[in-house]
Amino acid sequence: MSAPVTKKHFLNDPKRLSTLERLDLLSPTPSDALNRLTRLAAALMQAPIAMVSIVDDHRQFYKSVVGLPDVIEAPLSHSFCQHVVTSGEPLIVSDSRLNDITKDNLAIRDLQVIAYAGMPMISSDGQSLGSFCVLDHKPRQWTATELGILEDLRGAAMVEIELREVTAQLGAEQAFRDGLTSLLVHDFKTPLTSILVAAETAQEDPGSVGEMLSIISSNAQRMQVLTNDLLDVSRFEHGEIRINAVQFDFAKLVTEAIRDVTPIAKEVEVRIEARIPVELPMVKGDRVLISRLLTNLLSNALRYTTRGTDVTVVAEQVGDRIKCSVIDNGPGIPTEMTETIFAKYGRVEGAKQNYQAPSTGLGLTFCKMCVNAHGGEIGVDSELGRGSTFWFTLPTVR
Ligand code: ADP
Repeated sequence: MSAPVTKKHFLNDPKRLSTLERLDLLSPTPSDALNRLTRLAAALMQAPIAMVSIVDDHRQFYKSVVGLPDVIEAPLSHSFCQHVVTSGEPLIVSDSRLNDITKDNLAIRDLQVIAYAGMPMISSDGQSLGSFCVLDHKPRQWTATELGILEDLRGAAMVEIELREVTAQLGAEQAFRDGLTSLLVHDFKTPLTSILVAAETAQEDPGSVGEMLSIISSNAQRMQVLTNDLLDVSRFEHGEIRINAVQFDFAKLVTEAIRDVTPIAKEVEVRIEARIPVELPMVKGDRVLISRLLTNLLSNALRYTTRGTDVTVVAEQVGDRIKCSVIDNGPGIPTEMTETIFAKYGRVEGAKQNYQAPSTGLGLTFCKMCVNAHGGEIGVDSELGRGSTFWFTLPTVR
């Protein structure tokens, strides 16, 4: 009996390939657990060859194999497993020379593969990755018991693969959290130390009180910004921020946000231009949160754009959304950082700033959470050395 094979060519589907990467299935790192399972398959089914074979876009790669010493991969011309992957179904072949799917396969000639039984390895996100299979050099009828064993071992192998990924992820998250903790301690410790030193200096030298008070104040502000940013992000994470959705005039909100940051714009000699059509539909959302979102993006643009240039705010209707873009002429953002900067504490090291402001790496995290909570999207288009366009979408009132 042979399983039907779909004609669909999805071996090079990027989603499938990225699952292979994510599950680390194309690295030669040996897995003791998978090796135990393939050894067990060969022994229980008395087959000379057993393998966990992963099929990428041009070859089958043996993540674990017994019975084929020194072989780690084969081209698709020698792959029975590719048929298991493309169909997502078992492939059970008693004599490959007589089977329409396999009779022209070069593994028959070069590796003497005559009988084959392969079960599809399908990930929990539904991607067909490879085959857990046993091979024989002579014709044979695979019994129902044998196929049951193979199916069970395939299940165990898939669990093992996904568990390994979860474990690696947990380890990475723990390392990330440890790193964050020291980053945060550092972020609080620096201004706190400045405050203590300034307070001591003021006590010892009454003539310096004015200057020391201003140092204390700016460092306390820095701590306050960090605390507020942390609290906002944490409230979003715990679902404690309620969206107070009202209908409002988006153009008016943009004008107000520009007015709020005008003192900074003057300081850094940047002109803010707003390009907003007269006929813009009303937006539905939390006016206070969206105002903060816009102020965040505008202050970032002013902070990073080249002095003496323009920052432009464009709003337009796109389908049933409003799309708003804040465009600057700053250094741009490296492609590999365009997602990271929206994650907690994501910062681009060494980015030149027009003015010193507390940098927490939480501003864009707040922006993303705010936009997502409104059912919108946020992103950045950027070219290094040319500038960045931060954009977001929000639902309009129907
Ligand atoms: P913060 O500004 O407090 O560090 P954000 O989350 O607002 O945190 O920004 C994260 C990082 O993204 C910044 O540290 C900076 O490296 C980068 N960034 C944000 N906006 C811009 C911009 N307009 N141009 C260049 N880099 C930017």
